[in-house]
Amino acid sequence: MLRIGCHLPSSKGYLEMGKHAVSLGANTFAFFTRNPRGGKAKPIQEEDVKAFLAYAKEHDIDRLVAHAPYTMNLCSADPSIRQFGMDMLADDLQRMEYTPNQYYNFHPGSHVKQGAETGIAQIAETLNKVLFPEQTTTVLLETMAGKGSEVGRNFEELRAILDRIELQEKMGVCLDTCHIWDGGYDIVGNLEQVLEEFDRVIGLHRLYAVHLNDSMNPLGAHKDRHQKIGQGHIGLEALTAVVRHPVLKDLPFILETPNDDAGYAAEIAQLRELAK
Ligand code: FE
Ligand code: FE
Ligand code: ZN
Repeated sequence: MLRIGCHLPSSKGYLEMGKHAVSLGANTFAFFTRNPRGGKAKPIQEEDVKAFLAYAKEHDIDRLVAHAPYTMNLCSADPSIRQFGMDMLADDLQRMEYTPNQYYNFHPGSHVKQGAETGIAQIAETLNKVLFPEQTTTVLLETMAGKGSEVGRNFEELRAILDRIELQEKMGVCLDTCHIWDGGYDIVGNLEQVLEEFDRVIGLHRLYAVHLNDSMNPLGAHKDRHQKIGQGHIGLEALTAVVRHPVLKDLPFILETPNDDAGYAAEIAQLRELAK
């Protein structure tokens, strides 16, 4: 069965998120590990996590794709911001162990005026300090649209980060369809070629999750404005091909489209049908 869900508000705790997901017809979901603008995370309620894990099992939810806050920039030119990011990452990885064997996705960062090479080195350096051998979480680098000075604007930049990581098996990639489209990868005209390129540069064995989004902008726009499924420049046909593709179809698909609950439920139901 297709694993599909959306990004949920995380304010009410794990069990609430699980119930919310199920009410939308989802069997996977994403959430911010803390306020997306950063700051202190709410303490984990062990009873809540326990109840959630039982509920998730009953409802065939076996994949969580947590999302780091946007304020986490591991390659800021400001060392205090890098440190702030590292502290959040380290804390989040401890928290993730309450829900073992799940995914934690983050935006590699924006190097501002430091250059991509410096950015890549700083991101890898921090990951090497924070990843630990006992962790069960897989940390995912998200493919980015290349807005401003974002690192991860192409597959090569993600590969360059991965190459520097000591605990290789703790790392993977999350592919965002809006971002790679905006980054210039033509998943409408030639999905097959894009996946071949991903395989050649990064390796498909490192792909763990997909953010399924349409885009408000044309190919290569480097804008990062998500659109509802079928209402943007990528379109329903191409996104259907993504969820049906043999090398992607078993991954968790997370919608980050501009929707309310009814909109998410409708997109989930529609994509389930089209994936058959
Ligand atoms: Fe993201
Ligand atoms: Fe995304
Ligand atoms: Zn985005």
